Parts: sequence; C-alpha cells; structure tokens
Amino acid sequence: MKKTLVSASIVAAFAVGSLAGINISRADLQKSTQEHLVMATNWFQTSAENKALQIQTYNVAKEELAETMVKKIAKDKKNKKKAKPAAVVLDIDETVLDNSPHTAWTIKNNVAYPEGWDEWIHMAKAELIPGAKDFLLAAKKLKVDIYYISNRTEAERADTVKNMKLHGLPNLDEKHLLLKSTTSQKGPRQQEIEKTHEIVMLIGDNANDLSDIFYKADLNTRYNNVDKIAKDLGVKYIQLPNPMYGDFEGAIYNYDFKKTEDQKAADRYNALKTMK
Ligand SMILES: [Mg+2]
Repeated sequence: MKKTLVSASIVAAFAVGSLAGINISRADLQKSTQEHLVMATNWFQTSAENKALQIQTYNVAKEELAETMVKKIAKDKKNKKKAKPAAVVLDIDETVLDNSPHTAWTIKNNVAYPEGWDEWIHMAKAELIPGAKDFLLAAKKLKVDIYYISNRTEAERADTVKNMKLHGLPNLDEKHLLLKSTTSQKGPRQQEIEKTHEIVMLIGDNANDLSDIFYKADLNTRYNNVDKIAKDLGVKYIQLPNPMYGDFEGAIYNYDFKKTEDQKAADRYNALKTMK
C-alpha cells in the first residue's frame, strides 16, 4: 500500500469516532512520541496469543516446580545437613500484575513513563497476569516459599500489598516482598534469600529478573547471554513476554534515558535488522 493510502485510511478510521473521549487525527498521531507503543500494547492487552503464552508459561512452571520438588526432596534426604527449604522468586510488574492500562494511558496522553505511574500504583487496581495466581497457589501447596523481588519502591509498598491482597495472593509480608532500596539489580536481593533458602525457580518478564548476566549488558551481550541459561529455561528460569517496555528497550538506548524522544526513535530504527 502506498504511503498516501495508508494515511488516508488512518484518517478515515479515526475520523469516524472518538476513543475514550479523545479524538485522534493523523496530525495528532504524527506529533505523538508514544505511537511506537500502540502495537505492543494492543498485543499485550487484546491478543489471544499473549494470554495463551502467559497461561502456557505458568502451566510449564507449575509442572516443572512439582518435578523439581520431587528431585529436591530425594536429594535433601541424602544430604540432610546442607538442605535448605525451596524458594521461588517472582517479579511483580507484568509478571503477576498487569499494568498495561498505565501504558495505554501514557499513549493516549502523549506522555512517557514515569508520568502517571504513582497515580496508577495508588489506584491499586491492576488485574492479574493470567496463570499467575494458579501457579502461586500450586507453589504454596508444594510448600515452596514464595518471594517477590520488585523494583517498585518502599513508598509504593502499601498500595502494592493492597492491590495484591485484593487478588488473594500469598506471602505479602515484609520478609517476602523485597522492594528496591539502593539498586534495581536483583542479584543482591536473590543472594539474601539464598542465605536461608535454595531458589529453585525465578519468574519474570525482564531477563534481568532471571539473572544478573543481563543487567546493564549491551544489546548483543544481552541477546547472546540467553545461550548461557538455555538449558535451564523453562526449568529454573521462566521468561514471560512483555513487548511494551523493559531492559530490552534500555539496551537499545545504551541505558541513556536522558536521550530525547527523537534520539530514542532513531536508536530503535537503527537497531532494526533488515533483509539487505
Ligand atoms: Mg516486570
């Protein structure tokens, strides 16, 4: 389709009505700095594929955890002195809670994160990621200790707990909910848990939730480091999808979030791998 035809069809599509009270013209779209997030957010919020993938991922995690526990109980019997209780570690945002309504709001208001984020957290109305609660209840049944490691802040603790309690999620006490204090790096908080527990599974939408080998790594290193955990993916390391944001995006900008929206757009464009 020629570009003019695309433009004409977009104008026609948007001219007929308004979206949640916001009228959008082609000119508005061209001025938008958040337009790149529309498709990713559409996919996350409305696609059967995302919902299926999330449930599938948690189904696999549930089965693997049961299997891991059978092996661990046998191993611990032989080695009573060194045996530690099992723990599973989950990220929260886009792993347990769905914050896509916040992303959708930023798009429609042409603002970028963290605009509106505090208000969204305070609303405490995020829905669950499909499959997450089923998994958590199964882990509880298997007597696996559940920890959450999130980069939400202490100031956001009360609203986070409130939101998760509404969904009847387990282990929301201070000891099991490790928020960000000094660093967004999750390894140090995982090591704290490992002082008393054996972490048998880590679940997250950002590769950094699974291992520090991805933390602040450049684009190629980040991509290639997946090979280092390949045999444990789907077993110990459980990766969920999130095309809306994450360190995959940060790596594209070389983690320089002070770049202008235009510079970020250019970085995204330059990161494309083309057919020739
Ligand atoms: Mg997350």
